[in-house]
Amino acid sequence: MMAILNILILEDNSSDADLLCRELEKSGLSFVANVVQTKTEFVDALVNFNPDLILSDYSLPYFDAVTAFRIKQVDHSHIPFIIVSGVIGEENAVELIKDGVTDYVSKQRLVTLITKINRALNDSEERKNKIAVAEKLRIQAVELLALNQELEVRVIKRTKALADSENRFRSILETIPQIAWTNTIEGEVIFYNQRWYDYTGLKDFKEFIAAIHREDRKKCFFEYLDILKTTNGGEFQIRGKRADGTYRWHLIRLVPILDENSKIQLWVGTATDIQELRLLQQQKDDFISIASHELKTPITSLKASLQLLDRIKDRPPTDTLPLLITQANKSLNKVTILIEDLLNASMANKGHLHINQKIFNMYQMIKECCNDVHLDDSYTFKIEGNEEVEVFADSIRIEQIVINFINNAIKYAPKSTEILIKIHKTVNEVKVSVIDKGPGIPLDKMEHLFNRYYRVDNSGSKYTGLGLGLYICSEIIKKHGGKIGVDSELGNGSAFWFILPMAS
Ligand code: ADP
Repeated sequence: MMAILNILILEDNSSDADLLCRELEKSGLSFVANVVQTKTEFVDALVNFNPDLILSDYSLPYFDAVTAFRIKQVDHSHIPFIIVSGVIGEENAVELIKDGVTDYVSKQRLVTLITKINRALNDSEERKNKIAVAEKLRIQAVELLALNQELEVRVIKRTKALADSENRFRSILETIPQIAWTNTIEGEVIFYNQRWYDYTGLKDFKEFIAAIHREDRKKCFFEYLDILKTTNGGEFQIRGKRADGTYRWHLIRLVPILDENSKIQLWVGTATDIQELRLLQQQKDDFISIASHELKTPITSLKASLQLLDRIKDRPPTDTLPLLITQANKSLNKVTILIEDLLNASMANKGHLHINQKIFNMYQMIKECCNDVHLDDSYTFKIEGNEEVEVFADSIRIEQIVINFINNAIKYAPKSTEILIKIHKTVNEVKVSVIDKGPGIPLDKMEHLFNRYYRVDNSGSKYTGLGLGLYICSEIIKKHGGKIGVDSELGNGSAFWFILPMAS
């Protein structure tokens, strides 16, 4: 159903106004007309009558269409304004339409009125729609702007929070002893702590490749990327280059830092120098293989002797019998010594090595040692020095050291047939040295000789041993508050010595 139109008619001549109304009724339009003549009535009707259309005479006694049109334009520009007049010429009408008046109808040709009204109303409807859309757009733009501003504030706040948390993070990374860095989710390093620069001696962190051992670079690259694909983090081991040019094993760990939605924000990496640990592990592995080998040899020999003894047990005794028993005893002794070494080393390591000190004569003790180990006539022992010197120490443990030094001299300096043992006494100390004329020891190995499991040449099977003897000796001497050491020169033999404080 067509809506009822409010038509405001500005007309001083009542018969013209009637004529107009009749013309409108004729066209079948549903409408309510409000006829006004003055400016005040017109302004009032604009607000209170709320017209859909204005039909205006061109000139009235106290008012005119041009002024009415301008007033209407201020707040009601969408209302179509048609001038219905008999006095204005075509030219004037064109000018008025140019100024924005919707249309012009001559009172003499009112038949065209309804067509022009319909056109004006359609145009007005369109205009209204356009205005509504424009208004909607304007509101949306305002809302968008507000949203944008809010978003901007949030981004600024978030960026600041991120920067704050990253700064806090960096400060923490500066306090740890390891090399540490942060990298993006794509893997790009964005920060290295000072330890990195100090350790590698590199100035620019983009050169980090130079700090990785050539052989480990590929592995490092793939391991790194594999970890970045996860959210759990991970670790791997590579060799890193220290500023002095040496390569040391490092444990690389990567941990993701997640945000409140469990999304990775960035990665924190650390590199821990595990060189000592790797060496220790290597030594342990070597030790286990050596120890099993060492134990197996005398046990195999013992087993063989027992098998032979078993075979001849019911036969009349022959010369082989005592020989086999001696052989079996020798093997058993070896096993006992090895087990004792292992026990001693373990006790020393736990700090459980106990010493029983008493006063004894050093010279006498050494002489007995030489008799004990003097198995082969090809060796001669020479003892030099003070025969009277008495010390306050654990004689059994000190004897163990001397025997160990002598056995090593026989073992590692087999061509040195004379072994010299020197006793040198000063006011406060006594120094005992066991000197051979063997191959000597390379300088770089000497400092490690007294370490647990250390053997100069593990690969050669020529000399057997667990690498524990000198370690146990050094622990015994430590317990006595003394010193232990070696002087050696390649090709010129070695002098293993210990110093004990004199009994006060
Ligand atoms: P082991 O004899 O079981 O190897 P030690 O602790 O007694 O263990 O000795 C450690 C290492 O010191 C030996 O492996 C050997 O290489 C070296 N060594 C000890 N004594 C001598 C020596 N007199 N001459 C040359 N090297 C020696």
